[in-house]
Amino acid sequence: MKDSESSLDIPEQEPCAFCDYLSGVRPFTVLYRDDLIAVLVTREQRGIGHLLVLPARHYPTLLESEPNERHSMMDTLAWAAAAIDAAFERPGIAVWQNNGTAAHQAIPHLHFHIAGTLSGGGTDFGDVPELTVEQTDQIAAQILAAIHIAPDLRSTPR
Ligand SMILES: [Zn+2]
Repeated sequence: MKDSESSLDIPEQEPCAFCDYLSGVRPFTVLYRDDLIAVLVTREQRGIGHLLVLPARHYPTLLESEPNERHSMMDTLAWAAAAIDAAFERPGIAVWQNNGTAAHQAIPHLHFHIAGTLSGGGTDFGDVPELTVEQTDQIAAQILAAIHIAPDLRSTPR
């Protein structure tokens, strides 16, 4: 489905920040990527080990996704949940995804959020500090150390 066929109001951003991160035009912590999907460590940590799972291909919402991308994103979310669990041992893990500005989508490139819950529970939807890429690199290193293996989506993190 083309986005012109949906009723959603899509945020405007040119160029796309996520495409710039994936192409290396702008520095960002990329925990994993392959032909279909990528896992980023967001600089706005709204939970413990807050990651973004997104398609490598640029399109705005779930409505434009293809079946193979959806399957890969779900597999990747399950991998990310296991990785967050191994690295941070939180009592809860939240997954959320917003389509359209009315749903508070800010970047017009489909992405899922996944994060371990904060002390006291839940995640933070208010203002959070913007971490440096060095700090998000440390979060990635903590995750990779906990699972002992490079991300391989056909394997379960140990
Ligand atoms: Zn993009």
